[in-house]
Amino acid sequence: EHKSIVIVGAGVSGLALGNFLLSEGIDCVVAERRSREYVEQRQRAGVIDTRAARVFRKRGLEDRVIGGAPVEPRLGFRVDGEIRQLEFAADDHRDGRFCPQQVLVRNLITVFEQDGGDLRFDSEVSVEDIDGERPRVRLSDGSIIECDFVAGCDGDRGATRAAIPGDRITRHSHEYGYGWLVVLADAPGNHQAMMAIHSRGFAGQFARGPRASRFYLQCPLDDTTADWPDERIWSELEARFGEPLATKGTIIEKQVVPLRSEVYSPLSHGRLHLLGDAAHIVPPMSAKGMNLALHDADVFADAVVHYYKNGDPSLLDGYSATRLRDVWNYQAFAAWWTDTVHDAGDPTHRGEFRHQVARADFERLFTSSTANRLLGEFMAGLN
Ligand code: FAD
Repeated sequence: EHKSIVIVGAGVSGLALGNFLLSEGIDCVVAERRSREYVEQRQRAGVIDTRAARVFRKRGLEDRVIGGAPVEPRLGFRVDGEIRQLEFAADDHRDGRFCPQQVLVRNLITVFEQDGGDLRFDSEVSVEDIDGERPRVRLSDGSIIECDFVAGCDGDRGATRAAIPGDRITRHSHEYGYGWLVVLADAPGNHQAMMAIHSRGFAGQFARGPRASRFYLQCPLDDTTADWPDERIWSELEARFGEPLATKGTIIEKQVVPLRSEVYSPLSHGRLHLLGDAAHIVPPMSAKGMNLALHDADVFADAVVHYYKNGDPSLLDGYSATRLRDVWNYQAFAAWWTDTVHDAGDPTHRGEFRHQVARADFERLFTSSTANRLLGEFMAGLN
C-alpha cells in the first residue's frame, strides 16, 4: 500500500492536517493507536484563538468544525479577592471561540469521514526508513504503508519523534518549579472564565461547555492527588477566589501536572516532520497548546500542497525554521505570562523581588494601552 502522506495520531494536529490535505485532493491516511470513543471523549483545551479560527475559515471548514460561544475580549481576575477586569481591543478577538477540544476533535473526525478520508483507529504505528526516499509505517495489525512523507502528530509520548536519532534532534526545556492541580468537574462555574492571583497561589476556573468546568490550583511539584481530597479543592478555590462557589458538583478527574515548556529542534528529519505536542509543549496558562498544533497543521499543509502542485520542496525544507520562529515567540509569551500570574500572587515561590516585578508587569496591562495590546495579540495568536 502507498500513500502520499501518513499522519500518525488523530489529535487536533493530525485530524486538522488530514482535513486540510483531503480538501486539496492529497491522498493521506490518519492512523491512531486509541479507539474512536477514547479520542472523542478526551477533555483538554477549550479555546480556539483567532488565528486558528481563521485557518478553518480560509480552508472553508469553519462552519463544519468549529462550535461554541465567541471568545469575549476580556479576562476576569480576582487579585487577593478584588475584582479586576482586563479588557482587550475587540477586533483582535472577534473570531476566537470557546470550543472544547473534544468537540473540535469529534467534528474533525465527522468531516474527514464524510469527505471520504481514510482514518484508522486502534492502529499503533511505528516508523521505519524516515531517512530514505520511501519511509515505511508499520501498523499494529501488521500492515505496512509506504509513503512520501510522515507527519508526526502523535503527541509528547509518540513514536515518531522517538525514531529520530538522538544526535539529530535537541530538546530545549524549562521547568517553572510549580505544578497545577488540574480538576475537571461536572458543574458550571460561577463565571465563563476567572483567574485568581492570590498569596495562597494561582487558581483558575474555565467553562467547558454549559455543564462542566476546569479548575486549576497552583501547588507544589511534589503534591499528589492524595493531598487534595475534594473538600480541600473546593475550600481552597473559595479562599483564592474570595467568593463561595455556586455549585460544587462532582469531581470527575484530578491530576497534578508540572508546568513546563519544551521545544524540539529541528522539527524535521529526513521525510519525517513533527507537529503539535510532538514538537513542542507550552504551559497550560498560555492556552496555546492546541492552537500551536493547529498553526503547525496550517503551515505544513501549505508546504505539502506546494510540493505536490508545483514540484517545489522549498516550503517543506523551510517548515522547521518557519515554525520554530513562531513557536519560540509563543514560548516567550507563555513563559512571561505564566510567571507573571504566579509570581504576582505568591511571594514565597521566587521571593519579594520577582513578586513586585510581576505585580508591575500585571498592573501595566491596565495602565498602558501598548502593553495591553501586546497581550491581546498573543492571546489571539496574531503577534
Ligand atoms: P494530541 O492531541 O495529544 O494527539 C496525539 C495523538 O497521537 C493521540 O490521539 C495519541 O493517542 C496518538 N498516538 C500517540 N502515539 C501513537 C502511535 N505510536 N501510533 C498512533 N497514534 C499515536 N491547550 C490549549 O491550547 N489550551 C488549553 O486550555 C489546554 N489545556 C490543556 C489541559 C490539559 C489537562 C492537557 C493535558 C492539555 C491541555 N492543552 C491545552 C494542550 C492541548 O491539549 C495539546 O497541546 C493538544 O492536544 C496537542 O494536539 P496534538 O494533536 O499535537 O496531540
